[in-house]
Amino acid sequence: MRRGLADHVLGRRIRDVELHGHRVARRHLAGPQDLTDRLAGHRVEAVRRRGKYLWLDLGDSLGLILHLGMSGQLLVEDAAAPDEKHLHARFRFADGGPELRFVDQRTFGGLALTDLDPTGIPTTIAHIAPDLLEPAYDRAAVVRRVKAKHSAIKRVLLDQTVASGIGNIYADEALWRARLHGERPASALTGPRIGGLLDSAAEVMREALGQGGTSFDALYVNVNGASGYFDRSLAAYGQAGRPCPRCGTPIRREHFMNRSSFSCPRCQPRPRGLRASAGS
Ligand SMILES: [Zn+2]
Repeated sequence: MRRGLADHVLGRRIRDVELHGHRVARRHLAGPQDLTDRLAGHRVEAVRRRGKYLWLDLGDSLGLILHLGMSGQLLVEDAAAPDEKHLHARFRFADGGPELRFVDQRTFGGLALTDLDPTGIPTTIAHIAPDLLEPAYDRAAVVRRVKAKHSAIKRVLLDQTVASGIGNIYADEALWRARLHGERPASALTGPRIGGLLDSAAEVMREALGQGGTSFDALYVNVNGASGYFDRSLAAYGQAGRPCPRCGTPIRREHFMNRSSFSCPRCQPRPRGLRASAGS
């Protein structure tokens, strides 16, 4: 989404922003009027992402975070295109070109202005660690932080303050590649094992981004960055009962942290002493 958005809005000056209803601005504590007043006239200097956060750098240390929630979409469309039923915000640009629209069926998403620190990161997400594909990612430091945790390795992978951008799907795929069961205690793993797992996670993210990036068309930026990936390349996630691509053993599903976890019983044996949790 970041790449698609950058293709369409980078370098363009915002003429005005129109909100439909106030829910879309509820994360902006100074209110909807302040949000639209402050956006007008700014040029989009960069489109950036850290983990699951996406924002526009508007210059003058001002950023606009685009929270997509579960169902938020960003559409780039001609002004003449009819309004979507769930249109919440419309950005018009000074060049008179296509609009940017924020559409959200369920309105978990929204817009919020934030200050940017000197490296361009929103101060409101200072607690979110760099993701594995950012230049700011320090592999050795993250290995040490993971090793210091006594909780299950999957829980640590999902902890956005350790490294960001790894959700349930990428975690399962990375664990499968690294041949690790997600309930192994992080502190019991060797440094090289943790490093290898992080490398696997980075590889999964890179491949997913490569495939997501092929789905954009000229006027429609509406891509769940992983949608192509869902269909074609998953070895473990969602594959319960299908053969492990490495050894042929049927993939199992277990419950962990209120979600489903998928793994290969043979390549990723459960740690000794832990009872199986409601498998299938
Ligand atoms: Zn296997």
